[in-house]
Amino acid sequence: MSVSSAAAPNTAPEISGMAARLGDADPVLAQVRELVRQRLAPQVLEVDLKARYPEDLLREIGKAGGYRGAVSPQCGGNGLGLRHVVEVMEEVSRECLSTGFMIWCQTACARYIDLSDNAWVKERYLPRIVSGELLAGTGLSNTMKSADTIEDYRLSARRTEGGYVINGVLPWVSNLGPDHVFTTGCPVRGADGEEQGLAFVLVECNQPGFRLVDCAHFIGLDGTRTLACQFKECFIPDAMVLAQPSRSAAYLARIKPGMILAQMGMGLGLIHGCALLMEQSNRTHGHVNRYLDDQVGDIVAALEEARAATCELCDAVEADADGGARYGLAVLKLRLAGGELSVRAAHAAMLHQGAKGYLVRNAAQRRLREAYFVAIVTPATKHLRREIARAGSEAQAVPT
Ligand SMILES: Cc1cc2nc3c(=O)[nH]c(=O)nc-3n(C[C@H](O)[C@H](O)[C@H](O)COP(=O)(O)OP(=O)(O)OC[C@H]3O[C@@H](n4cnc5c(N)ncnc54)[C@H](O)[C@@H]3O)c2cc1C
Repeated sequence: MSVSSAAAPNTAPEISGMAARLGDADPVLAQVRELVRQRLAPQVLEVDLKARYPEDLLREIGKAGGYRGAVSPQCGGNGLGLRHVVEVMEEVSRECLSTGFMIWCQTACARYIDLSDNAWVKERYLPRIVSGELLAGTGLSNTMKSADTIEDYRLSARRTEGGYVINGVLPWVSNLGPDHVFTTGCPVRGADGEEQGLAFVLVECNQPGFRLVDCAHFIGLDGTRTLACQFKECFIPDAMVLAQPSRSAAYLARIKPGMILAQMGMGLGLIHGCALLMEQSNRTHGHVNRYLDDQVGDIVAALEEARAATCELCDAVEADADGGARYGLAVLKLRLAGGELSVRAAHAAMLHQGAKGYLVRNAAQRRLREAYFVAIVTPATKHLRREIARAGSEAQAVPT
């Protein structure tokens, strides 16, 4: 008997077929899966190692209807909501988290516009964003972190006739290009520097006073066209404002739960991809992999639990008129678990694959680098833990 066939454990559920079963009834998901198989899988090494930005594929996913869960039916949505956004992102991230992240960027931007009160922006931009004709990003990391008092605002706006003049630099915003758009938010300051609230705006990357600068390169997700955004006396007319300072606190509360929750699509896809790598390794090395802490069955069970919790929260957030603000803490906890499980699954995939996983062309080491992104992109693990702790101490401070 060969060493590899001796005493191989048979405790892991068969998961290769799981991908095929998911979303079989949805023609959009089936089309996205086919695009991933035919178009993304062959270029995944170039995306990872040569910073190839899969622009055509992102447009194709839009044409297939992959972004339509992000907006309401009046604005061209498919009525399936955040759950559909997460499912599409999961499909893509199972193969490549870098591209999955851009699904998040595109759909997050679409959703911020959809949840604004700006009918003109909705009419002019949303049809092109949800169809993939116009590609879009979101520069809200700094806004969110500053609003949570973690760091200082990097942009500043001053009121002028008919709009705002913005100055400053956002160092890293993804899914950008000269003909793309993105959303951001920054404090409006009066003549004496006092803060008058946040203004949220949509920015065209080719507008006067704005410049994209390619200055950062990353050890993973380098195919995401992540660029620095320089604003120099950049005029943003009121027509491009998604939330004026007087309404921006309510707007931020409305967009935040869905924005954070949708990131679960990246984690779910990545975790599934890692389980597949573990299963693949077990075909020859199950007899020794069985001594590792996390087995395929452990990761798949955790994945299924996370997926069920994500679907449930997506539906609850969609059904809530306030954008799910009341589910804020549950979203933070689930998102934290998603980042932690991503790193755990990628670690297990590496240990299962062994030395092979260390090869440049092997997916296991790529998945490990990608997994850390789920744990560090805003809201990062440390940010989430801080907000969860703050929510706990606020709840304790409320007299009963
Ligand atoms: C590949 C990649 C893609 C990204 N894409 C986007 C995007 O599309 N939109 C977006 O808003 N953010 C994006 N970010 C930023 C990201 O979400 C985090 O804000 C950033 O990783 C810093 O988080 P941190 O927890 O390390 O911050 P901290 O540990 O609190 O900060 C560490 C230091 O990093 C720098 N830094 C902090 N925040 C940022 C920031 N937002 N941008 C640049 N430098 C920062 C500052 O100098 C800070 O002092 C991206 C980051 C990476 C690595």
